[in-house]
This record gives sequence, structure tokens and C-alpha cells, in this order.
Amino acid sequence: MEQNERVENVLIVGSGAAGLTAAIYAARANLEPLVLEGMQPGGQLTITSDVENYPGFPEGIQGPDLMDAMKKQAQRFGARCLNEDVVEVGLDARPFTVRTDRAEYACKSLIIATGASARFMGLPSEQRFMGKGVSACATCDGFFFKNQEVMIVGGGDTACEEALFLTNFAKRARIIHRRDELRASKIMQERVMKHPKVDVIWDAVVEEILGEDPKGVTGVRLKNTKSGETFEEACDGVFVAIGHVPNTSAFQGKIETDEKGYILTRDGTCTNVVGVFAAGDVQDSKYRQAVSAAGSGCMAALDAFHFLEDTGGIE
Ligand code: NDP
Repeated sequence: MEQNERVENVLIVGSGAAGLTAAIYAARANLEPLVLEGMQPGGQLTITSDVENYPGFPEGIQGPDLMDAMKKQAQRFGARCLNEDVVEVGLDARPFTVRTDRAEYACKSLIIATGASARFMGLPSEQRFMGKGVSACATCDGFFFKNQEVMIVGGGDTACEEALFLTNFAKRARIIHRRDELRASKIMQERVMKHPKVDVIWDAVVEEILGEDPKGVTGVRLKNTKSGETFEEACDGVFVAIGHVPNTSAFQGKIETDEKGYILTRDGTCTNVVGVFAAGDVQDSKYRQAVSAAGSGCMAALDAFHFLEDTGGIE
């Protein structure tokens, strides 16, 4: 395990919109931030396609392109990005310690921007057929379902977006939603309802994903939430789009979270540990937009800067 002598001014954990925006601001304040990029450099936007609502891009922009640009912008001002994943932190005393799969770092202030990951239904069959027809990422795996039948579980914007994206490949994309009304925004609902290749199976939950080895998924057993009746539908793929869980495992018991595991922030991006700040989806179960994540990343960098100034910590 590599031990680093240097004590970082600001260490940023995570490299999605929040982490990289924090890096841009911290770098421009001459804090030479260190960014530990995590398992998925660039974060959730790297597995989306068109981003149509990030201000400044009237024609939209591809998620991976946006994240590439943010990283370059952060590096231009002196941010250092390492492709390492944090496994443990020590927050009892300053400087804080951050251990990754490769090395240990010390820092005067810490910005947690580890984001959130797809939630799964928790069915054993979901695990069994993961990568063999079950996926949580249409942009990653849609290509494998050319002219096939796919199901998308969920009723939010993600489910709608995944269903629409999958129509580029699949013969038909069917949304399975547990209620009789979608949660998704009106514009997404309209697009889904109008699309000839998309339909919705209302009031239904997945009881089991059906399949066989080595083929993988062959269908789903569904249960009508109103009548209790169960029935089977054939399909080749199941995309799970039922929301997200925050990536806080490395911080469990070290920092205050709500009952769902989202980090609690106050006065901007401050956590209950002085000198530790949180930004983006890891502390936001409500808005979860690229632009709001970026905004809170900016706030976290400014909060860290003021903290360092107040404690005389900037060298
Ligand atoms: P949401 O939390 O909005 O929706 C999750 C959906 O999954 C809900 O319809 C929910 O049902 C359903 N669900 C949750 N748990 C289960 C379960 N165990 N079994 C079956 N169904 C379940 O998450 P999203 O990922 O869709 O969206 C998150 C945020 O990201 C939102 O703010 C959204 O607006 C935003 N977003 C925006 C996009 C855009 O603007 N283009 C694209 C994608 C996301 P129920 O409705 O009954 O609660």
C-alpha cells in the first residue's frame, strides 16, 4: 500500500458532474485538488445518451462528451485525477485519511461526490440473469437486443428514456409499472404514449424473471397489483429502472445519513463532520439532475475553500 506524505488541500471523491465541477472550482482557487474517480469515471452521465436539459447545449450533448469536457476543464486548471476507488475513510481527526484500492491519502478537507447507482428489485432471478438479459443500462446493453422483445421495469423518467432508447434496437419495448399512472415528466409520458413500439403494462410487478441457461432471459412472471392475478409474458431482456441508491458504503457509520443512506447536508454542502462536504446525488434524493449536481459541486468547492481559509489551512 502506497503511503503519500503530501497532505492535500482538497480531496474529491467521485468524478461525475458534482465531483468534476468541484474540481474545476477548487483548481481555479489554486487548491490543486486531487480527484479519486471511482469505479465509474465520469459518473452516471457516461451511461446516458443524449443530455437535452443541460443549459448551454441547445442541440443536446452526449453524456460521455459532457463528462470528458468537464474533466479536461478541471485538469486545465491543475486538478489531478486518479482512477482509484475509495474503500475506507478516517474522519475522526484532521487531516482526514482516505484509503483506496492502491494507496492512502491525507487531506485537510474532503468533498464526497460519489453519486448513486441503479436500484435492483432484489429477486434472485435478477442476479442469476444479470448480463444474460437483465440490465440496468439501456445505452450500455441495448445493442444486444436487435429485433427482440424487451421489458423495462419502472415508471419514472429513467424507465421512459430507456424504453425510447431501446426502440432503436428492439422490436418492442414494454414498460412494466406498478401503478396506473407514470411518475415520469409530462414530455416523457407523451413521447412514450405516442411511440408505436412502446406500450405499458399497468398495475404490475415482476414476481420472477424467467429464463434458462445458457440462453438467458425468456420472459417474466408478473403479478397484477390490483387483482393479485399472476401471468407470464415472453421477452428477451429486462431493463430495471426503478430508481437509485446512494454510494455511501465507504462512509457508513462515519458520516450522518438519512434513513435511505443519503448524506445529510446543511448550510450549503456541510456534513456533520467539520471539513467534510457532500455534493451531487449522494446527498440529493430529490432533484438528481446533472445541472443541480454540478451546482452543488461548485458550492462544495467554495465551502471547502472558505473552511481552509478560516482554519488557515491553505498552503
Ligand atoms: P424515480 O424515483 O423518479 O422513479 C422510479 C420508478 O420506479 C417509479 O415509477 C417507481 O414507482 C418505480 N419503482 C420504485 N421501486 C420499485 C420497485 N421495487 N418495483 C417496481 N417499481 C418500482 O427514478 P428515475 O430513475 O426514473 O428518475 C430519477 C430522477 O432523475 C428524477 O428526478 C427524474 O426526473 C430524473 N431523470 C431525468 C431525466 C430527463 O430529464 N431526461 C432522465 C432520467 C432521469 P412509483 O411511481 O409507484 O413510485
